[in-house]
Amino acid sequence: MTHRVPVARRRRIAISACLVGLPVRYDGGHKAWPLLEPLIASGVILIPFCPENECGLGVPREPMRLEGDPERPMLLSLESRHDHTRRLLAWSEEWLERHADARVSGFICKARSPSCGVHGVAVHDADGQTTGEGMGLFVRACRARFPHLPIEESERLEDWSRVVAFLESQTC
Ligand code: SF4
Repeated sequence: MTHRVPVARRRRIAISACLVGLPVRYDGGHKAWPLLEPLIASGVILIPFCPENECGLGVPREPMRLEGDPERPMLLSLESRHDHTRRLLAWSEEWLERHADARVSGFICKARSPSCGVHGVAVHDADGQTTGEGMGLFVRACRARFPHLPIEESERLEDWSRVVAFLESQTC
């Protein structure tokens, strides 16, 4: 079976860098996506991003979580309690501005991440109790900047037919 998509329909997809196998997670690991190989073979152009690493927090880094108001959560380190919200949001705005003309036609993101998660990312209170659900800070900025672009988690694109439907949902 071939996964190649006609060149005229090639897409530029921004994707969480850990999903393409780059060791950018807080512990220096990655989360290589099983459907990465056929996606590349399809001719899609990938634009990897890692908000937490690229905003200057580096690898390894302290694990983080969302806290506060689920509609406007903060990004806090678990132990040191450093607030990285402004740094992450500033990097997100800069990245989105830099790629405004890059003809990005969609985003594939890592689930459950306080930066990249799209659906049901846990938001906590200061004691660690879950108080609600939201979306990662980078994804929130993407939605605000490019409300027409499809954004999905790799875990929801669980087979190739769903990936094709995702690609077909894009308008450019
Ligand atoms: S989920 Fe996002 S912030 Fe976390 S390692 Fe992957 S790309 Fe980086």
